[in-house]
Amino acid sequence: MAQKVLVLGAGISGLTFAYYLKKRFASNVSVRILEASERVGGLIRTNRNFSSCLEEGPRGCRPKGKGLATLRLIEDLGITDQMIVADESAKKRFLFYENSLEALPQSLKEAISSPLMKGVAKELICEPLRRRGKDSDETIASFFKRRFGPTITKRFIAAVSRGIYAGDIEQLSMRSCFPQILNLEKSYGSLIWGMFRSPKEKTTDLSSFIKKHKNAALISFKEGMETLPQELLKQTDLDLSLKAKVEAIEFHGSTVIAKTKDSTWEADHLVSTIPTYQLESILPKKVSSFFVKIKAMPWTTVIGISLVYKKAVLPQKGFGYLVPEGENSALMGVVWDSSVFPEQNIYPDETRLTIMMGGEHRPDLLEKTDKELTQLAFHELNQQMGIKESADYVHLWKARHAIPQYNLGHSDEVKQLSEKIRSSLPQLHLIGMSYHGVAVNDCIFHAKDLVNQWNL
Ligand SMILES: Cc1cc2nc3c(=O)[nH]c(=O)nc-3n(C[C@H](O)[C@H](O)[C@H](O)COP(=O)(O)OP(=O)(O)OC[C@H]3O[C@@H](n4cnc5c(N)ncnc54)[C@H](O)[C@@H]3O)c2cc1C
Repeated sequence: MAQKVLVLGAGISGLTFAYYLKKRFASNVSVRILEASERVGGLIRTNRNFSSCLEEGPRGCRPKGKGLATLRLIEDLGITDQMIVADESAKKRFLFYENSLEALPQSLKEAISSPLMKGVAKELICEPLRRRGKDSDETIASFFKRRFGPTITKRFIAAVSRGIYAGDIEQLSMRSCFPQILNLEKSYGSLIWGMFRSPKEKTTDLSSFIKKHKNAALISFKEGMETLPQELLKQTDLDLSLKAKVEAIEFHGSTVIAKTKDSTWEADHLVSTIPTYQLESILPKKVSSFFVKIKAMPWTTVIGISLVYKKAVLPQKGFGYLVPEGENSALMGVVWDSSVFPEQNIYPDETRLTIMMGGEHRPDLLEKTDKELTQLAFHELNQQMGIKESADYVHLWKARHAIPQYNLGHSDEVKQLSEKIRSSLPQLHLIGMSYHGVAVNDCIFHAKDLVNQWNL
């Protein structure tokens, strides 16, 4: 009889897992996904209400590192012709610094004349002389202050970390958030030496498609990121229950039971892709006690405002900009979507922008009404980019409790949790953005990895 597998959540993690499990074991497994909402995709959501392509979650993936798994998935699904790569100009990224937009230097020549480099020369020159850290984990702020100094940490690192985690570098764990950078210190004693001396990633058996795209800055799809979950659903032979929020999980011997409001589902295995704070609340008490520490992990809400102008309003081309700490702004940054992926534009000269607000630094913004938030965003957009024109389409959205904050000690907590579950409940499996990385690439990589380890 086919092994029965229940998957909680039809985001990219759940769908990728189901796709590869069916691909590997075909009719020897039966897979049912239980999804609380009325749609698949989870945080991946492309809004086409104004026909333009507006991302209300991830707008792309970097193909490097774990991103190879994403390129392989695109190839496996046969949708390479739908993939697009970011425009060359998207390599140009900006910071809003001292009331103007400044390009991050891409060469030594640019660095010498950039106002962003004011006061950082000493911190850069001294970095190779700094000692290695002794602690097994430290906050991002502590690591970069130790290696460089307060100016680089505040001006660049805090802004970049906000761009990825919408988080606070005084709390976020270096080991969990930037393990590759931490390894440069471990292996070479210096990040600067490490960048020059670390060998290039060696990967064999790469197809010509992967070789061609593995160094792209960012990839997406002509019709937006939602292409990926939609294709996974189309190409996977599975049973899907929408509006099926799991409210309780029980374990009876080797059988696992998931209960929704109206139904009870039995299986041999249960794969959870849902956030830890939701999973913990529906597990039996004994099992939820394994989550004690990880349960306290904060999840940040991101407020986004998508804008479409049917004309060109950008001062120049590029990826967009981040706002460093200390600039007294409600914005985390603005992505210039129409410049990053011009293939997605439908009107001649169309401008698409996404304003990002909220995050760990500005929980107070959640108290404001949508009207107040929109007014504030337009006011700052005018100040920072000089855009005074009104947009042809404005849509405010909120990704609630959407980004887990991997604070100090996160990796150890995940390790302990995984060990306890492996030894006492081998029929329960945990994947998704709660554990080993918050990006789409991480979710795809770990979902496929779980399939590779699966035994019938
Ligand atoms: C604003 C924003 C921007 C982002 N930008 C990027 C980016 O540019 N690049 C990038 O790589 N990543 C980005 N990310 C991260 C990326 O979106 C996530 O890594 C990824 O989408 C997570 O997928 P998942 O399947 O693990 O979880 P989810 O997408 O959260 O899916 C989990 C699913 O489980 C369902 N569920 C929850 N509880 C239950 C229950 N009790 N029963 C049944 N179903 C349940 C939910 O409805 C949901 O559909 C961004 C995230 C946000 C919020």
